[in-house]
Amino acid sequence: AGIFVQIGLLPNTDFLKASKVELSNRGEIMINDRNETNVKGVFAAGDCTTVPYKQIIIATGEGAKASLSAFDYIIRSGQ
Ligand SMILES: Cc1cc2nc3c(=O)[nH]c(=O)nc-3n(C[C@H](O)[C@H](O)[C@H](O)COP(=O)(O)OP(=O)(O)OC[C@H]3O[C@@H](n4cnc5c(N)ncnc54)[C@H](O)[C@@H]3O)c2cc1C
Repeated sequence: AGIFVQIGLLPNTDFLKASKVELSNRGEIMINDRNETNVKGVFAAGDCTTVPYKQIIIATGEGAKASLSAFDYIIRSGQ
């Protein structure tokens, strides 16, 4: 007999519920393939987003993508 506890499935995004950032029905931050959220200039990456497959190698790649998108946004907006 034994108990197997599965952890790590709930994204810690409650603080965004009062914001304009769109969340999925699972509480994940909705992103497109450039890690953009629905709010201009706000990017997200990793397990807290709608990206499929919650794994370390995915999250690190997504972090790189979000950084590049943020860089691109700043360059193009002239800020
Ligand atoms: C039990 C378990 C086993 C796993 N095993 C594997 C495995 O073998 N191989 C694999 O590839 N993946 C594994 N994963 C998945 C892997 O851990 C995740 O995909 C990866 O850690 C996601 O990285 P992340 O940076 O998106 O999120 P996280 O690693 O969860 O980092 C998020 C960070 O944000 C912090 N944070 C949260 N809310 C706030 C806030 N409001 N303000 C400031 N900081 C905040 C957290 O404390 C945390 O440090 C496992 C996950 C779990 C739960």
